[in-house]
Formats: sequence, C-alpha cells, structure tokens
Amino acid sequence: MDKIREQLHRLHEGKSLDAEEYLELILGRDAVRVEAAALACEVRDRIYGRRVFIRGLIEFTNYCRNNCYYCGIRAGNVNADRYRLSLQEILTCTDAGYELGFRTFVLQGGEDPYYTDEMMTELVRGIRERHPDCAITLSVGERSRETYRLWKEAGADRYLLRHETINPEHYASLHPEGMSHENRLRCLRDLKELGFQVGAGFMVGSPGQTEEDLAAELCFLREFRPHMVGIGPYVPHQDTPFAKEPAGTAELTTFLLSLIRLTLPEVLLPATTALGTVDALGREKGIRAGANVVMPNLSPVDVREKYLLYDHKICTGEEAAQCIACLKERIRTTGCEIVVDRGDHKDKERQ
Ligand code: SAH
Repeated sequence: MDKIREQLHRLHEGKSLDAEEYLELILGRDAVRVEAAALACEVRDRIYGRRVFIRGLIEFTNYCRNNCYYCGIRAGNVNADRYRLSLQEILTCTDAGYELGFRTFVLQGGEDPYYTDEMMTELVRGIRERHPDCAITLSVGERSRETYRLWKEAGADRYLLRHETINPEHYASLHPEGMSHENRLRCLRDLKELGFQVGAGFMVGSPGQTEEDLAAELCFLREFRPHMVGIGPYVPHQDTPFAKEPAGTAELTTFLLSLIRLTLPEVLLPATTALGTVDALGREKGIRAGANVVMPNLSPVDVREKYLLYDHKICTGEEAAQCIACLKERIRTTGCEIVVDRGDHKDKERQ
C-alpha cells in the first residue's frame, strides 16, 4: 500500500514509471483511486483551470469498409441502417454548433471511401471559411501520409485515431486479418509529424485485454505523447462477434484517466460518451478523475440512432441544444465549467 502510494506521488512529481510500477498501481487501484483523482485534478487545474472544453461531434457517415469485431457499424453488420450526410448538411451542423458555443468540430465516421480526398478537402475548406476561429478535427481512420498532408494544408488542425491496443497480438484478436496494427501506428506517427494535434486511445476492458496490456498502454502514451487521449469502456453491440463479451467498467476507466493525466499533465482528456453509457454519472466521474473535455453530439437527430458503435448509447434522442444544456448542468456539479474556446493543447499555444 505504501509502496504504491509512493509510486503515485512519484508520477505526480513528473518522474516516469515503468510497466511493472504501472501494473502495481492498476492492481492496487482500490486503495489509491481517491488520492489519484485528487492529484490528477490538481494537475489539470494548475494547467487548464477548472475549464472544460467542448467538441461538437458530427457523425457524418456510418458506412465502413472495416470489420472490427467490437464495432456496431462494421461492414459485416447487415442490420445497420446506413446513412451519409451531404457536405451541405455537415456545414449546417457546424453553423448550429457555432451558435451554441462550439469552437471545435469533430468530423467522425466509419472508413467510407465515398468521401474522397477531394470531398474532405472541400469540406475542411468550407468549415474553415465559415468559422475561421474554430478548430477542425478529423476522425476518419487510416489514410496515406499524402492524404493527411492534403487535409492539413486545407486547414484541418487535429486528428483522432485511437490505436485501440498497443499489443500487436491483442490487436490481431480484435480485428480481422488484413487490418494492420503497424499501419495504424504509422498513421499516428505521420499525423504527428505533419503537425496535427493527435489523439490516440483505446477501449478499457476490450475482450482479451489484460492488466499488463493496460500498463503497456500507459508506457506507450508516455513515449508517444499524444496531445489527446480518448479512452472509454468497451460496450458490447448485439450484432457483432463480441456481443456476449462483458463491458468495461467506469471504475477502471476513471482510474486510468487519473493515471493518464498524471503521466501527461497537459493532455486533453475527454470524459467519453461510452463512459456515460456504462454509468449514468460516468462523464461527471471522468471530470472528477482529471478529464477536461466532453464531446456532445451535433449530428442531426434523425441519424443519431444509426451511429451505434455499441448498444444503449446515450443522448441519441436529443437536439444539440438540449444536450449542451444538460451537459452544462452536469459539469457544474463537478465544480468545473464548460467554456466557449477552441481548447487547444498547450503545445499549440506556445507556437
Ligand atoms: N473510423 C474511425 C472512427 C472510429 S469510431 C477510426 O477508425 O478512427 C471511434 C472509436 O469508438 C473507435 O476508435 C473505438 O475505440 C470506439 N469503439 C468502437 N466500438 C466500440 C464499442 N463496442 N465499445 C466502445 N467503444 C467502441
């Protein structure tokens, strides 16, 4: 007990832990979770204050060429009711979002070749033109370095691409043959080199994940230093090969949020929708554990029900305005406050 508390404090002082030490913290988490959360919030408050940044998430297509075993919009799910938003519809979402105080738009979708490099470029330019004071984040999966370069030049600022797991064997058990762990990591490196603010991440409690894997995740994050880290519990979807696998827990997810904040003090860390799905107060608990970002949905209500990566996803019936009002109140209960701000990483502010 004393040993792991000491490790926690070393982390808080900016020393790095090795995989074995992270593992001991994870295994002994019940004894230190309260302290870890307090230290993580102190670090967050010192760097960003008690300000929570919002990202307007636009889920613009649920077509996907991939077949990830865990994901509800996998190509093989014949029950998924597929949709695509037009460029005009997407732009309309950003206009509505801007009025509601969003200064970051996240364009997320399945890997859908319908949206060519040129269409995405046009879209990024269109948003840039209408909302020059906003950050544009893309999250559309694995592409070539050249494509990423094109989008960066068009005005995209950030890119979210969870690596899903740092363990290659584990990766192979979550994805069909043909999907490459190596290529995913190549994408992350390219994105970073091209100057994107980059978000990596993984699911907590994904099938086959061990506590050793989680310790390795923390070591990887410490080395790679992404600007953002998206983690949320794995949640089963009924039409996937993993339908019967148990969901990850809010308690493990929030503890990892605290460890990530302590490992990368300046990181932008969302309290995710998946966390709010496994626990009604999950997002608030995430903020109390050291997170400082929430990503409410700006997609048109008539498609919300269709972007189902997992079952029982929250906030699928509400207009964006309702969502933001509800979230503002929820965040206020944590002593933090949602702000109108791009919410850039400190790296960017120093440039
Ligand atoms: N096609 C894009 C966006 C993927 S969806 C890309 O490849 O980046 C965003 C994230 O949702 C995924 O990276 C994955 O970590 C998460 N996700 C998918 N299925 C999930 C599930 N069943 N439970 C929890 N999270 C899931």
